[in-house]
Amino acid sequence: MSAEAPSSTDILVVGHGLAGLVAAAEAADAGKQVLLVDQEPEQSLGGQAFWSLGGLFFVDSPEQRRMGIKDSHELALQDWMGSAQFDREEDLWPRRWAEAYVDFAAGEKRSWLRGMGHRVFPIVGWAERGDGRADGHGNSVPRFHLTWGTGPGIVEPFERRVREHAATGRIRFAFRHRVDEVLVEDGTCVGVRGKVLEPSSIERGYASSRVEVGDFELRAQAVIVTSGGIGGDHDLVRKAWPARLGEPPRSMVSGVPAHVDGRMIRITRDAGARIINDDRMWHYVEGIRNWDPIWANHGIRILPGPSSIWLDAAGKRLPAPFFPGFDTLGTLKHLRATGYDYSWFVLTKSIIDKEFALSGSEQNPDMTGRSVRGVIDRARKGPGPVHAFMEHGEDFVVADSLTELVAGMNRLADREPEGPRVDEAALREIIERRDREVANPYAKDAQLTAVYAARNYRGDKLSRVAKPHRILDPEHGPLIAVKLHILSRKTLGGLETDLSGRCLTSAGVPLPGLYAAGEVSGFGGGGMMGYNALEGTFLGGCLFSGRTAGRAAAAAV
Ligand SMILES: Cc1cc2nc3c(=O)[nH]c(=O)nc-3n(C[C@H](O)[C@H](O)[C@H](O)COP(=O)(O)OP(=O)(O)OC[C@H]3O[C@@H](n4cnc5c(N)ncnc54)[C@H](O)[C@@H]3O)c2cc1C
Repeated sequence: MSAEAPSSTDILVVGHGLAGLVAAAEAADAGKQVLLVDQEPEQSLGGQAFWSLGGLFFVDSPEQRRMGIKDSHELALQDWMGSAQFDREEDLWPRRWAEAYVDFAAGEKRSWLRGMGHRVFPIVGWAERGDGRADGHGNSVPRFHLTWGTGPGIVEPFERRVREHAATGRIRFAFRHRVDEVLVEDGTCVGVRGKVLEPSSIERGYASSRVEVGDFELRAQAVIVTSGGIGGDHDLVRKAWPARLGEPPRSMVSGVPAHVDGRMIRITRDAGARIINDDRMWHYVEGIRNWDPIWANHGIRILPGPSSIWLDAAGKRLPAPFFPGFDTLGTLKHLRATGYDYSWFVLTKSIIDKEFALSGSEQNPDMTGRSVRGVIDRARKGPGPVHAFMEHGEDFVVADSLTELVAGMNRLADREPEGPRVDEAALREIIERRDREVANPYAKDAQLTAVYAARNYRGDKLSRVAKPHRILDPEHGPLIAVKLHILSRKTLGGLETDLSGRCLTSAGVPLPGLYAAGEVSGFGGGGMMGYNALEGTFLGGCLFSGRTAGRAAAAAV
C-alpha cells in the first residue's frame, strides 16, 4: 500500500481498469472516500482500455446522421436482442441491463462523454454486420464510433477525474495489492485481504512480477469488484469453452495482457456472489501473431473489410454468411468443426490497403496521436502498421503468383499450429470462379453481393471497402495470404448484478456491501450481451456499469 493509504475507507474498488476508474470517480464525486486497489503498478492505470481501439456503440448519433445512416432505438434494441438471444432463466438481469444499456447508448452516453472532452472520428464503422437475418445477430447499420485518441482517449477523462480526487485525498491508490479474498462478516461484505507484491517498474502491458512482500487487509463499507475477464488465462478459457462452439482450440493467441487472469471471479464467488453465463465468451477468428509483442503470445485482431476470400485450413471457402467482419461466433463455430485451429484470408494489396485495420491503440498511431495528417497519409498510402506486418509478420505470405503464394501458405501450414496443405489447383478454381462474378455491379456470389451492398454506405465506400476487382488481376497485386489464429479476448458472462450493480447470491438477493462492474460482471447483470456482441459495447458496458455501481455504492454507504 502507498504510505498514505488508509486501512479502511468508505468504498474500495478492486481493479483500476476503465470500469474501476469510472466507479471510483463517480463515488468520489458523491463525496465518499475511495481506495482504488490493483495488483499492477501505477503505470498500468486504465487496464485493457488503454490498449483498446476505443470503438464505441452509439445509437442515432450526429455522426451517424451526418453519414446518412438512419438508426433508431427500436432498431438497435432489435439488433441487440437478435444478437443476445437470451434463453435462460438467469438472463433476467442481463436482459434488464441490455435494455438499460441500449437506452444509455441512444441517450446520454455521447453527451456525458462529450462533456468530459471525449471526441469521436467522423466516419462511423460497420462492425459485426451479422448473420443475414433482420431479427438475427448483427448491426443493421454502422454504429462503431472510434474514439479520437483510441484507447488512451477513452481512459483520459476518467484518469483525469480520479487524479483530481487523488490530489485532494478523496481517492487513494493501493498499487501492487493483489486481492486474494473478499471478506464477509455476518452476511455483509466488509473488505478484502491479500498480498502486497514487490514494487515494479515494468512497462505497461508486460507481465509484472508476482513476488509477495507482505500481507494486507483493507476494510470498507462497500467493495466494488472491477477486475476484468478471463481472456489472459487460456486454461480458464478452455475450461469454460461451451460445447456449442465445438472443441476448445489447442492453440490460441492472446488478445489481452496477463493481468486479465480471471482470479477475482472465483474469489468473489467464494465470498457468496453468484456467477452466471460463464460459458458465454467472445473470441475472434482473425488473430495474427504480433511481430513486435508486448505481452506473451501477443495476438492482434484484424478488423477486416468484407472482400478477402476466407478459407479453412484445408483451403475450402467458407460458406455464406461467414464473410470477414460479419458473424464472429458463427464463423468460430464453423471453423471449430473443421478440426483445425486456424484459417486463411487470401486477398490483394488493393484490398489490404483499404480494408485491413488492426485493433489496438499502438497499431493506430495516427488515431491514437490524434494526427489529422497521419489519417490522411493512411488513406493515401495505406496503413503503415499493416505494411509492417506484411514485411515482418510470421503469418503473412506476399507473392506475385498464385504458385508462389500457395508454396508460402504450405510452408506456414507446416508450422505450429500445423495443418493440411492447400492445393493450388483447387484454390485457383475457387478464385477464378469468384473472379468471373466481378464483371457486373451485381452478382450471384453472396459475398460479392454483400460487398456491393456495403459500398452503398458512404463510409464504407470512402475508407473501408475496396472496389470489387479480380483477385488474380496483377494490377491489384501482389497477392497476400494471412494465417489467422483464434484470439482470446472477452468474457461475456460473470458476476450476476442487479440494476444497481449489487452482486446477487444464489438465492437471488443482494450480498450487502458487494458490487461489481465492467467485464467481471459480463458488462452488467452477469452478461448483458447474451451470446453475441455488437462491438464497441465492451468499453461502453464498463462506462455504464462502472457509473451505476459507483453511484449506487456511494448512495448506500
Ligand atoms: C487490444 C484490445 C482492443 C479492444 N478494443 C475495444 C474496442 O474498440 N471497443 C470496446 O468496446 N472494447 C474493446 N476492448 C475490450 C475492452 O477494452 C475491455 O473489455 C475493458 O477495457 C475491460 O475493462 P475492465 O475495467 O472491466 O477490466 P480490465 O481493464 O481488465 O481491468 C481490471 C483490473 O483489475 C486488476 N485486477 C484483477 N484481479 C485483481 C486482483 N485479484 N487484485 C487486484 N487487482 C486485480 C487488473 O490488474 C486490472 O488492472 C479491447 C480490448 C483489447 C485488449
